[in-house]
Amino acid sequence: MIDLHVHTTASDGTFSPSEVVKIAKQSNLSAIAITDHDTILGIQEAKEKAEDLGIEVISGVEISADFEIEMHILGYFIDVNNNKLIDNLLLLESFRHQRNPKIVEKLQQLGYNITIDEIIEVAKDSIIGRPHIAQVLVNKGYFNSPKEVFEKLLSFGKPAYVKKDKLKPFEAINILKESGGLAILAHPYKFLYLEEGVENVFEELKLYGLDGIEAIHSEHSDIETKKLIELANRFSFLITGGSDFHGKNKPDIKLGVGRNNIKVDDEILERLKERLKK
Ligand code: AMP
Ligand code: ZN
Ligand code: FE
Ligand code: FE
Repeated sequence: MIDLHVHTTASDGTFSPSEVVKIAKQSNLSAIAITDHDTILGIQEAKEKAEDLGIEVISGVEISADFEIEMHILGYFIDVNNNKLIDNLLLLESFRHQRNPKIVEKLQQLGYNITIDEIIEVAKDSIIGRPHIAQVLVNKGYFNSPKEVFEKLLSFGKPAYVKKDKLKPFEAINILKESGGLAILAHPYKFLYLEEGVENVFEELKLYGLDGIEAIHSEHSDIETKKLIELANRFSFLITGGSDFHGKNKPDIKLGVGRNNIKVDDEILERLKERLKK
Protein backbone atom coordinates (compact mmCIF):
# COMPACT_ATOMS: atom_id res chain seq x y z
CA MET A 1 0.00 0.00 0.00
CA ILE A 2 1.00 3.61 -0.57
CA ASP A 3 -0.08 7.12 0.51
CA LEU A 4 0.05 9.93 -2.05
CA HIS A 5 -1.02 12.84 0.16
CA VAL A 6 1.21 13.65 3.12
CA HIS A 7 2.10 16.88 4.94
CA THR A 8 5.23 17.50 7.01
CA THR A 9 6.60 20.35 9.15
CA ALA A 10 7.63 22.04 5.87
CA SER A 11 3.97 23.16 5.80
CA ASP A 12 1.34 22.40 8.43
CA GLY A 13 2.08 18.81 9.41
CA THR A 14 3.50 18.16 12.87
CA PHE A 15 6.10 15.49 11.94
CA SER A 16 9.37 16.31 10.18
CA PRO A 17 10.00 14.79 6.73
CA SER A 18 12.30 12.14 8.30
CA GLU A 19 9.74 11.28 10.96
CA VAL A 20 7.00 10.91 8.36
CA VAL A 21 9.16 8.51 6.32
CA LYS A 22 9.89 6.51 9.46
CA ILE A 23 6.18 6.25 10.25
CA ALA A 24 5.53 5.18 6.65
CA LYS A 25 8.10 2.41 6.99
CA GLN A 26 6.60 1.28 10.32
CA SER A 27 3.17 1.27 8.66
CA ASN A 28 4.49 -1.06 5.93
CA LEU A 29 3.89 1.43 3.13
CA SER A 30 6.04 0.93 0.03
CA ALA A 31 5.81 4.56 -1.16
CA ILE A 32 4.58 7.98 -0.07
CA ALA A 33 4.34 11.33 -1.82
CA ILE A 34 5.32 14.41 0.17
CA THR A 35 2.69 17.00 -0.75
CA ASP A 36 3.18 20.05 1.45
CA HIS A 37 1.10 23.18 0.86
CA ASP A 38 2.84 25.50 -1.60
CA THR A 39 6.35 24.27 -0.71
CA ILE A 40 8.85 21.62 -1.76
CA LEU A 41 11.27 22.19 1.09
CA GLY A 42 10.51 18.91 2.87
CA ILE A 43 11.28 16.68 -0.08
CA GLN A 44 15.05 16.37 0.05
CA GLU A 45 15.16 15.32 3.70
CA ALA A 46 12.36 12.82 3.08
CA LYS A 47 14.18 11.32 0.10
CA GLU A 48 17.40 10.92 2.07
CA LYS A 49 15.60 9.13 4.90
CA ALA A 50 13.68 7.01 2.39
CA GLU A 51 16.91 5.82 0.83
CA ASP A 52 18.17 4.71 4.26
CA LEU A 53 14.96 2.87 5.04
CA GLY A 54 14.34 1.41 1.59
CA ILE A 55 11.02 3.02 0.72
CA GLU A 56 10.06 5.29 -2.16
CA VAL A 57 9.35 9.03 -1.80
CA ILE A 58 7.66 10.85 -4.68
CA SER A 59 8.33 14.60 -5.03
CA GLY A 60 5.01 16.36 -4.69
CA VAL A 61 3.31 19.59 -3.73
CA GLU A 62 -0.26 20.75 -3.02
CA ILE A 63 -0.99 24.13 -4.60
CA SER A 64 -3.93 26.26 -3.45
CA ALA A 65 -5.75 27.67 -6.48
CA ASP A 66 -8.56 30.15 -6.88
CA PHE A 67 -11.92 28.50 -7.54
CA GLU A 68 -15.14 29.23 -5.66
CA ILE A 69 -13.89 28.96 -2.07
CA GLU A 70 -10.64 27.21 -2.99
CA MET A 71 -9.27 24.36 -5.07
CA HIS A 72 -6.21 22.26 -4.28
CA ILE A 73 -4.09 20.83 -7.05
CA LEU A 74 -1.53 18.14 -6.35
CA GLY A 75 1.65 17.83 -8.37
CA TYR A 76 3.62 14.57 -8.55
CA PHE A 77 7.11 13.84 -9.92
CA ILE A 78 7.86 17.54 -10.16
CA ASP A 79 11.42 18.74 -10.72
CA VAL A 80 12.23 20.55 -7.49
CA ASN A 81 14.98 22.55 -9.27
CA ASN A 82 12.63 23.98 -11.89
CA ASN A 83 12.90 27.79 -11.75
CA LYS A 84 9.35 28.54 -12.75
CA LEU A 85 8.07 26.21 -10.02
CA ILE A 86 10.39 27.75 -7.42
CA ASP A 87 9.43 31.32 -8.40
CA ASN A 88 5.74 30.58 -8.22
CA LEU A 89 6.03 28.87 -4.85
CA LEU A 90 7.78 32.02 -3.58
CA LEU A 91 4.90 34.07 -4.96
CA LEU A 92 2.42 31.85 -3.09
CA GLU A 93 4.44 32.32 0.08
CA SER A 94 4.26 36.10 -0.38
CA PHE A 95 0.45 35.81 -0.65
CA ARG A 96 0.49 34.11 2.76
CA HIS A 97 2.65 36.92 4.19
CA GLN A 98 0.07 39.41 2.94
CA ARG A 99 -2.84 37.49 4.46
CA ASN A 100 -1.50 36.39 7.84
CA PRO A 101 -1.20 39.85 9.47
CA LYS A 102 -4.77 40.59 8.37
CA ILE A 103 -5.99 37.48 10.18
CA VAL A 104 -4.05 38.56 13.28
CA GLU A 105 -5.62 42.01 13.08
CA LYS A 106 -9.11 40.50 12.93
CA LEU A 107 -8.35 38.21 15.86
CA GLN A 108 -7.07 41.17 17.89
CA GLN A 109 -10.23 43.10 17.08
CA LEU A 110 -12.24 40.09 18.28
CA GLY A 111 -10.40 40.33 21.60
CA TYR A 112 -7.77 37.60 21.23
CA ASN A 113 -4.29 38.35 22.48
CA ILE A 114 -2.12 37.15 19.59
CA THR A 115 0.81 38.53 17.56
CA ILE A 116 2.45 37.55 14.30
CA ASP A 117 5.70 36.83 16.18
CA GLU A 118 3.95 34.19 18.27
CA ILE A 119 2.77 32.51 15.07
CA ILE A 120 6.25 32.57 13.55
CA GLU A 121 7.58 31.00 16.76
CA VAL A 122 5.11 28.10 16.44
CA ALA A 123 5.63 27.70 12.68
CA LYS A 124 9.46 27.86 12.92
CA ASP A 125 10.74 27.43 9.34
CA SER A 126 7.46 26.14 7.93
CA ILE A 127 5.30 27.83 5.34
CA ILE A 128 2.84 29.58 7.67
CA GLY A 129 -0.74 28.35 7.44
CA ARG A 130 -3.92 28.82 9.41
CA PRO A 131 -3.17 25.66 11.44
CA HIS A 132 -0.20 27.49 13.02
CA ILE A 133 -2.46 30.39 13.94
CA ALA A 134 -4.95 27.90 15.37
CA GLN A 135 -2.17 26.26 17.38
CA VAL A 136 -1.23 29.57 19.03
CA LEU A 137 -4.83 30.07 20.13
CA VAL A 138 -4.96 26.51 21.50
CA ASN A 139 -1.63 26.98 23.32
CA LYS A 140 -3.01 30.13 24.92
CA GLY A 141 -6.00 28.22 26.25
CA TYR A 142 -8.67 29.92 24.15
CA PHE A 143 -9.71 26.63 22.46
CA ASN A 144 -9.30 22.89 22.93
CA SER A 145 -8.26 21.93 19.39
CA PRO A 146 -7.20 23.45 16.06
CA LYS A 147 -10.42 22.06 14.62
CA GLU A 148 -12.45 24.14 17.08
CA VAL A 149 -10.55 27.30 16.09
CA PHE A 150 -11.34 26.65 12.43
CA GLU A 151 -15.01 26.02 13.16
CA LYS A 152 -15.39 29.19 15.24
CA LEU A 153 -12.96 31.63 13.60
CA LEU A 154 -10.77 30.66 10.67
CA SER A 155 -12.87 28.72 8.14
CA PHE A 156 -14.50 30.39 5.16
CA GLY A 157 -17.38 32.57 6.37
CA LYS A 158 -16.15 32.75 10.00
CA PRO A 159 -15.22 36.08 11.65
CA ALA A 160 -11.42 35.86 11.26
CA TYR A 161 -11.41 34.43 7.72
CA VAL A 162 -9.35 36.42 5.23
CA LYS A 163 -9.18 35.48 1.56
CA LYS A 164 -5.69 34.77 0.28
CA ASP A 165 -4.53 35.59 -3.28
CA LYS A 166 -4.04 32.44 -5.31
CA LEU A 167 -3.05 31.20 -8.73
CA LYS A 168 -5.79 30.32 -11.18
CA PRO A 169 -6.29 26.57 -11.64
CA PHE A 170 -4.88 26.69 -15.19
CA GLU A 171 -1.76 28.50 -13.92
CA ALA A 172 -1.21 25.91 -11.19
CA ILE A 173 -1.67 23.04 -13.66
CA ASN A 174 0.73 24.67 -16.17
CA ILE A 175 3.43 25.20 -13.56
CA LEU A 176 3.22 21.60 -12.38
CA LYS A 177 3.31 20.20 -15.89
CA GLU A 178 6.12 22.49 -17.02
CA SER A 179 8.19 21.25 -14.11
CA GLY A 180 7.83 17.75 -15.51
CA GLY A 181 5.06 16.59 -13.21
CA LEU A 182 1.50 15.33 -13.28
CA ALA A 183 -1.39 17.50 -12.04
CA ILE A 184 -4.17 15.96 -9.98
CA LEU A 185 -7.28 17.59 -8.51
CA ALA A 186 -7.09 17.04 -4.74
CA HIS A 187 -10.08 15.83 -2.69
CA PRO A 188 -12.80 17.10 -5.08
CA TYR A 189 -15.51 16.67 -2.45
CA LYS A 190 -13.91 19.12 -0.06
CA PHE A 191 -14.50 22.22 -2.13
CA LEU A 192 -16.60 21.40 -5.17
CA TYR A 193 -20.32 20.97 -5.12
CA LEU A 194 -20.31 17.87 -7.20
CA GLU A 195 -24.00 17.56 -7.85
CA GLU A 196 -24.20 20.56 -10.12
CA GLY A 197 -21.89 21.65 -12.88
CA VAL A 198 -19.16 19.13 -12.12
CA GLU A 199 -19.02 18.04 -15.76
CA ASN A 200 -18.19 21.60 -16.74
CA VAL A 201 -15.49 21.93 -14.09
CA PHE A 202 -13.89 18.61 -15.01
CA GLU A 203 -14.16 19.43 -18.72
CA GLU A 204 -12.37 22.73 -18.18
CA LEU A 205 -9.63 21.20 -16.01
CA LYS A 206 -9.15 18.49 -18.63
CA LEU A 207 -8.56 21.18 -21.27
CA TYR A 208 -5.92 22.76 -19.03
CA GLY A 209 -4.12 19.41 -18.90
CA LEU A 210 -5.26 17.92 -15.60
CA ASP A 211 -4.13 14.28 -15.43
CA GLY A 212 -6.29 12.88 -12.69
CA ILE A 213 -8.42 13.25 -9.60
CA GLU A 214 -7.84 12.19 -6.02
CA ALA A 215 -10.81 9.85 -5.72
CA ILE A 216 -9.61 8.19 -2.52
CA HIS A 217 -9.25 10.59 0.43
CA SER A 218 -9.90 10.61 4.18
CA GLU A 219 -12.77 13.04 3.78
CA HIS A 220 -14.62 11.11 1.05
CA SER A 221 -17.31 8.59 1.92
CA ASP A 222 -17.38 5.23 0.11
CA ILE A 223 -20.23 6.50 -2.04
CA GLU A 224 -18.31 9.65 -2.96
CA THR A 225 -15.20 7.63 -3.83
CA LYS A 226 -17.26 5.35 -6.05
CA LYS A 227 -18.82 8.32 -7.80
CA LEU A 228 -15.42 9.93 -8.37
CA ILE A 229 -14.01 6.72 -9.85
CA GLU A 230 -16.93 6.64 -12.30
CA LEU A 231 -16.35 10.27 -13.21
CA ALA A 232 -12.61 9.65 -13.64
CA ASN A 233 -13.38 6.84 -16.08
CA ARG A 234 -15.77 9.05 -18.00
CA PHE A 235 -13.17 11.81 -18.36
CA SER A 236 -10.18 9.46 -18.79
CA PHE A 237 -8.62 10.84 -15.63
CA LEU A 238 -6.19 8.80 -13.59
CA ILE A 239 -7.27 8.18 -10.01
CA THR A 240 -5.04 8.73 -7.02
CA GLY A 241 -5.47 8.50 -3.29
CA GLY A 242 -4.01 9.60 -0.02
CA SER A 243 -4.75 10.21 3.64
CA ASP A 244 -3.89 13.95 3.81
CA PHE A 245 -1.85 13.14 6.91
CA HIS A 246 -1.05 16.19 9.08
CA GLY A 247 0.15 14.43 12.26
CA LYS A 248 -1.27 15.93 15.44
CA ASN A 249 -2.97 18.77 13.56
CA LYS A 250 -5.53 16.22 12.35
CA PRO A 251 -5.15 13.51 14.99
CA ASP A 252 -7.88 11.24 13.62
CA ILE A 253 -6.08 10.83 10.27
CA LYS A 254 -3.47 8.05 10.22
CA LEU A 255 -0.74 7.74 7.61
CA GLY A 256 -1.70 5.24 4.91
CA VAL A 257 -5.20 4.53 6.21
CA GLY A 258 -6.64 7.96 6.88
CA ARG A 259 -9.85 8.23 8.82
CA ASN A 260 -11.98 5.43 7.42
CA ASN A 261 -9.44 2.79 6.50
CA ILE A 262 -8.72 3.91 2.95
CA LYS A 263 -6.54 1.68 0.80
CA VAL A 264 -4.32 3.02 -1.96
CA ASP A 265 -2.83 0.22 -4.03
CA ASP A 266 0.72 0.27 -5.46
CA GLU A 267 -0.88 -0.14 -8.87
CA ILE A 268 -2.13 3.46 -8.71
CA LEU A 269 1.48 4.63 -8.59
CA GLU A 270 2.39 2.38 -11.50
CA ARG A 271 -0.33 4.02 -13.60
CA LEU A 272 1.01 7.48 -12.73
CA LYS A 273 4.46 6.40 -13.85
CA GLU A 274 3.08 5.05 -17.14
CA ARG A 275 1.32 8.38 -17.78
CA LEU A 276 4.52 10.24 -17.03
CA LYS A 277 6.41 8.26 -19.70
CA LYS A 278 3.85 9.31 -22.31
P1 AMP B 1 -4.08 27.82 4.71
O1 AMP B 1 -3.29 27.02 3.72
O2 AMP B 1 -3.24 28.68 5.55
O3 AMP B 1 -5.24 28.53 4.10
O4 AMP B 1 -4.70 26.74 5.72
C1 AMP B 1 -5.47 25.69 5.21
C2 AMP B 1 -5.17 24.40 5.93
O5 AMP B 1 -5.77 24.42 7.21
C3 AMP B 1 -5.79 23.19 5.27
O6 AMP B 1 -5.03 22.70 4.21
C4 AMP B 1 -5.85 22.22 6.40
O7 AMP B 1 -4.60 21.61 6.59
C5 AMP B 1 -6.13 23.10 7.59
N1 AMP B 1 -7.55 23.07 7.94
C6 AMP B 1 -8.59 23.53 7.23
N2 AMP B 1 -9.76 23.34 7.87
C7 AMP B 1 -9.45 22.72 9.04
C8 AMP B 1 -10.20 22.21 10.14
N3 AMP B 1 -11.53 22.35 10.18
N4 AMP B 1 -9.54 21.63 11.16
C9 AMP B 1 -8.20 21.51 11.13
N5 AMP B 1 -7.42 21.94 10.11
C10 AMP B 1 -8.03 22.53 9.08
ZN1 ZN C 1 -2.82 21.34 5.49
FE1 FE D 1 -5.95 20.07 0.52
FE1 FE E 1 -3.44 18.34 2.02
